[in-house]
Amino acid sequence: MTDRYAVFGNPIGHSQSPRIHALFAAQTGQDISYQAILAERNGFAAAVDAFVAAGEGPARGANVTVPFKEEAFRLAAQRTPRAEAAGAVNTLSFEAGAIIGDNTDGAGLVRDLKHNLGCDPAGRRILLLGAGGAARGVILPLLLEDPAELVIANRTEETAARLALEFANSFSRLPGCTVGVTPDGMGFPGLAGRAFDLVINATSAGLSGAVLPLPTSVFAPRCVAYEMVYGRVTPFMNQARDADARVADGLGMLVEQAAEAFFVWRGVRPHTAPVLAALKAS
Ligand code: NDP
Repeated sequence: MTDRYAVFGNPIGHSQSPRIHALFAAQTGQDISYQAILAERNGFAAAVDAFVAAGEGPARGANVTVPFKEEAFRLAAQRTPRAEAAGAVNTLSFEAGAIIGDNTDGAGLVRDLKHNLGCDPAGRRILLLGAGGAARGVILPLLLEDPAELVIANRTEETAARLALEFANSFSRLPGCTVGVTPDGMGFPGLAGRAFDLVINATSAGLSGAVLPLPTSVFAPRCVAYEMVYGRVTPFMNQARDADARVADGLGMLVEQAAEAFFVWRGVRPHTAPVLAALKAS
């Protein structure tokens, strides 16, 4: 019997996850099916129940995307430390009637940085732009890489300050966490005169073409600028290029977070390079 997986979202038509997981399954010889499911905005839990109950083979897991990651967090009976830190779940595993919630977004970002882009966060001064779900999901994985500094800057300053404080207070309680750097939270004006070696844009500003009020000083010499949005050139990417930064978009993070989910489910780590190349080619 083929093990079944799915991704839930609303909208979901644009999702690359079915293609990515089909390529992973073919590459690793895993017998799985993976479908995209459009859930009603108030019907996420019911859609998951229906998926688990129906179908030929056993339902083993699911990915969760916008706007259901927080609801998936609440649905999971057990959660991994990185899901707890993120306050959101993008990967569900169905095991003996229990739902286990995980979050692979941060691991995906770190793997893309280290393995695909040759940018090790260790010892770097990191600026994280945004304080929404995507930013929250990557803070702990970045801190665990031992950066020299982590500054969170957001349009709404209080949200950044609250997020930084929350992580400063909470990560020491998570198993295995011996994080050496305390994150700092501020608004964009606080960035004047500051310089960073890695600038990560976790805002959704790029989706609307909005320009972030960033001083050019934030891009230190040989800086890497990472835009989480993919499939388009955003104003942030143009700002970074103009400041001579090396620029990457979030396609690698998308593929790497999927590979991490595949590993969680199947215990096999697929090669991501050919899958990333296939997506780039199309
Ligand atoms: P949220 O809606 O939770 O957060 C949005 C963030 O963007 C907030 O910090 C908000 O600031 C900020 N923002 C929105 N518009 C502007 C603007 N015009 N100027 C400045 N700041 C702005 O979204 P998510 O955190 O879930 O997602 C953020 C982005 O990351 C999305 O574009 C998403 O596509 C991408 N992403 C990519 C992934 C990948 O695998 N590549 C994975 C996950 C997300 P404020 O608090 O002031 O409102």
